[in-house]
Amino acid sequence: MEEIKYDYIIIGAGAAGLASAQYAARGGLKTVVLEEMTAGGQATQIAELENYPGIYPAINGFDFADTMRKQAEAFGAEIKQVSVTSIDKKDKDFVVVTKKETYIAPALLIATGAIHRNLEVPGEKELTGRGVSYCAVCDGPFFRNKRIVVVGGGDSACSEAVYLSTISKDVSIIHRRDSFRAQKAVSDKMLAAGVKPVYDSVVKSINGTNKVESVTVENVKTGEKYDLPCDAVFVFTGMLPQTSLVEMLPKDEGGYIITNENMETAIPGLFAAGDVRSKSFRQIVTAAADGAIAANSAKKMINE
Ligand code: NAP
Repeated sequence: MEEIKYDYIIIGAGAAGLASAQYAARGGLKTVVLEEMTAGGQATQIAELENYPGIYPAINGFDFADTMRKQAEAFGAEIKQVSVTSIDKKDKDFVVVTKKETYIAPALLIATGAIHRNLEVPGEKELTGRGVSYCAVCDGPFFRNKRIVVVGGGDSACSEAVYLSTISKDVSIIHRRDSFRAQKAVSDKMLAAGVKPVYDSVVKSINGTNKVESVTVENVKTGEKYDLPCDAVFVFTGMLPQTSLVEMLPKDEGGYIITNENMETAIPGLFAAGDVRSKSFRQIVTAAADGAIAANSAKKMINE
């Protein structure tokens, strides 16, 4: 298989990977980004990106991510749509094997991000694509003026509920506690938009024959159970870091890769950035900052 030599290989073209590509390429590193999906990562699923400093008024997340991609390419970074199958180390170089080619470089960034966590209740799997969804921007428009249930209480659930409230006046959010995990500004905006909170409650099952018809809700304080009729269920119950390529690296209790503030992992030359990394605050702006720092660290390492 053909071996292609770079200075810096980035796996993952979300905000962290694209920002790192831009900084590295602009700094003179021969840089490639390997991504199995469309470039942009989770940002592409945001209806209105309103909290990225310097971007005002809010813009569509897809347009934002697409601009990041164009900016990285304008500075010379290459972005390839390929699936990485393994990572190895040969002498001073990392060897990244894809289904098409093999890439080698002395510096490698893991920016593989995180994917949504399932609710793991009866009916979820069967009704996915038939009313159960994990992406409001992708599937929300199918449920205009329908009864929508959102599950979760973090930033994703609350901000996507705000978006869904522009599609339907009947949006409920089911959260297992009596206060939201989301940033206060986000949950306040959601409540002001008329989203109906169902506190201290969990979804026990999603019901329907060919499409979602209701959810069975249990109040965790009283034990009361009832069916809430609905047409769609949007699940935002957290993320799972994508670390299968780097099983050997130390992780925190949530499975996120441990780095120092220079984005260096336990293996010299191997960096991690963005949502896959152990940190306290996951935002597009912090992912982009991680990516810039990783590029700077990689350049320093190569120069030394
Ligand atoms: P998250 O912050 O981990 O929140 C997950 C939510 O789902 C929590 O409220 C959690 O409840 C609930 N949950 C987890 N498992 C559940 C289950 N089995 N049944 C019912 N509820 C369950 O995840 P996220 O909202 O996807 O956010 C991920 C990261 O991205 C966060 O760091 C977040 O700040 C960031 N983010 C930021 C923005 C923004 O700035 N606009 C937007 C989206 C995401 P508990 O609260 O009880 O644990």
